Amino acid sequence: MKKIAILGSTGSIGTQALDVIASNPSLFELFAITGHSNVELLAKQARVYRPNMVIITDESKYASLKEMLSDVDDVKVFAGMQSVCDMVAMSSVDMVLTSMVGYAGLQPTIAAVQAGKTIALANKETLVVAGELICSLAAKHHSAILPVDSEHSAIFQCLAGEQNKSIEKLLLTASGGPFRTFSKEQLLHVTKADALKHPNWDMGAKITIDSASMMNKGFEVIEAKWLFGVDKEQIQVVVHPQSIVHSMVQFTDGSIKAQLGMPDMRLPIQYAFAYPQRLSNTYQRVDFTQMATLTFEQPDTEKFRNLAYAFEAMDRGGNMPCILNAANEVVVHAFLHDKIGFLQMSDLIEWAMQTLPFMANPTYADYVATDAHVRKMVAQKIG
Ligand code: NDP
Ligand code: MG
Repeated sequence: MKKIAILGSTGSIGTQALDVIASNPSLFELFAITGHSNVELLAKQARVYRPNMVIITDESKYASLKEMLSDVDDVKVFAGMQSVCDMVAMSSVDMVLTSMVGYAGLQPTIAAVQAGKTIALANKETLVVAGELICSLAAKHHSAILPVDSEHSAIFQCLAGEQNKSIEKLLLTASGGPFRTFSKEQLLHVTKADALKHPNWDMGAKITIDSASMMNKGFEVIEAKWLFGVDKEQIQVVVHPQSIVHSMVQFTDGSIKAQLGMPDMRLPIQYAFAYPQRLSNTYQRVDFTQMATLTFEQPDTEKFRNLAYAFEAMDRGGNMPCILNAANEVVVHAFLHDKIGFLQMSDLIEWAMQTLPFMANPTYADYVATDAHVRKMVAQKIG
C-alpha cells in the first residue's frame, strides 16, 4: 500500500487524484488531504475518504473545519502551512502529490523533498521559481520527482528505457488555448469569461488563464528543463489544438516517440501514483477512426509574449523565473478581478522583468524576498 498525501485536494487535480485513489483501494491509501479556503469541500472529502489527517492552510478557517468534523473522530484536524510541512515529513507518508496552486507550493515541496519523499509534481510553479534548488535538494535527499503535468508525463513515458543523453530535443505540445486564432486587436477586448473557456481541459482558474496567455506553456518549458536536464535549445513548443499528442521526444538518431491519449488528467496522475507499473482503467480511449485530423503549428510569440518571456527568464536564470512567476500571479489575480485587460498582463510581466532587481545566485531566502518584493511592486503598479 502506497500512502499518499494530497496537497490541494479541493482543487481540480486534487479531486481527480482522490478519484484515482478511490478506484484503486488495494494499491493506494489516502494519508492526508489539505485545502485552503474551500472548507465545506475539504470537510466533505474528509468524511468520504477518511484520511488520517486533514489540514486547512488558511488558519482562520480552522474552527469551522473542526466544527464540521466534530462527529468524525478518526480524522485529525490541523491548520497552517507549518502543519503541512510537518505532515509531509512523517514516516507514514510515501508519496506527496503537490497539487496546490502557485508559489504556495514551494515551501511544502521543499519539506517533502528534504524528507526524501517521492513527489508527484503537479505544482509546476515550484520548479519555475526554484528549479535549481529543488533539483539539488532532491539529489541530496534521494527524493524522486515524478511529473503529473500531462506534457511532462508524456515525455517521462517516452523516456522509459531510454537515457537522457539520447535526447536530441523535447517537443512540448500546446493546445494554443481559446485565443489561438485571435488577432492582437481581438485580444485587446477578450474578457475573463472568454479566457476561462478552455477548449480541451477543465482546470482551476489560474492555470486556465495561464493557458489562454500561454504562460502555462512558458512555465512548462522551464519545468521540462529541470525535470529532464535539457538546454533551452532542446525544447521546442509545438501548437497542437486537439490535445491528443501530449508531447514527444526526438532522439539523437532522429526517431521520435510520442505519448497519446484523451485529455484526462487522471491518466498522468495515475501513472505517477503507480509508477513504474501501469494500471488498467475504463477512461475514454482514443478512436483514430473517429478523429478527423491531428494538426501542428508554430506558436506565435509576438501575440503570446509570455512564452518568449519564459524562455528569456529561463535563459537568464537566477531569480528571473521567480520574478516572472510572482508578476504572473499578481497579474492573473488582477485580470480575474477585472482590474486589468488581457494584454496588460504581459506588459506588466515585461516591466517586472526589466525593472526589478536581478540576482544571479539566489538562496531560498532570496526567493522568498524576491517573491514578496515583486508582488508588492506589481500590485502598486496596477494601483
Ligand atoms: P485549483 O485552483 O483547482 O486548486 C488549487 C488548490 O490549491 C486548491 O486545493 C486550493 O484550495 C489550494 N490553494 C489555493 N491557494 C492556496 C494557498 N495559498 N496555500 C495552500 N493551498 C492553496 O488548481 P488546479 O488543480 O487546476 O492546479 C493545481 C496545480 O496543478 C497548479 O500548480 C497547476 O499549474 C497544476 N496543474 C494543473 C492541471 C489541471 O488540469 N488542473 C494540469 C497540470 C498542472 P481551496 O480551493 O480550498 O482554496
Ligand atoms: Mg500541462
